[in-house]
Amino acid sequence: MSVNVNNIYFGLGSNLGNRLQNLRDAVRMLESFGHVVKASDVYATLPWGGIPQPDYLNACVKIESEGRFDPHEILRRVKDFERELGRVESVRWGARKIDIDILLIDDVKINSPELTVPHMRIPERMFVLVPLGEILPPEWPYPVNGLTIREMMSRLEGEAMPLRITAL
Ligand code: AMP
Repeated sequence: MSVNVNNIYFGLGSNLGNRLQNLRDAVRMLESFGHVVKASDVYATLPWGGIPQPDYLNACVKIESEGRFDPHEILRRVKDFERELGRVESVRWGARKIDIDILLIDDVKINSPELTVPHMRIPERMFVLVPLGEILPPEWPYPVNGLTIREMMSRLEGEAMPLRITAL
């Protein structure tokens, strides 16, 4: 079912290839939904646990739209973008290089097998909360548990703090 959509928040992550370029390419594709009105800086999260793996670069963007979208259609398009970006990379790296999460769509709540909005990872991951906290007020309450970004971050104390790298 299509609904009027004004604000969509996306979370982006990349840990393969030219990670910064991958994030920027993803933003360019997301502009097909509307204008990018806010973009966080880019953060690196150091891997922990002793298993060697590339750091992730993460960022969040807010897209302002005047369109009508079925949220599942937004997901389908996001998956197409991931495939499109991944396909270029698979020639050289053979792996997916971009992860695009739909964090929020206005105050829409969805819990279907394919799509959960607000995204359930928001309260659990510093690499989502830190960039999202740059483009939402720190007192913004996550609608699922009522906790503010600040409160959710303090609950994760002890988790590696993402490092600010550059502008998106
Ligand atoms: P992953 O790429 O491992 O983060 O997970 C991708 C899968 O999560 C997709 O196949 C989606 O069907 C599912 N999913 C559920 N909710 C969301 C959401 N809000 N944004 C993106 N993917 C979602």
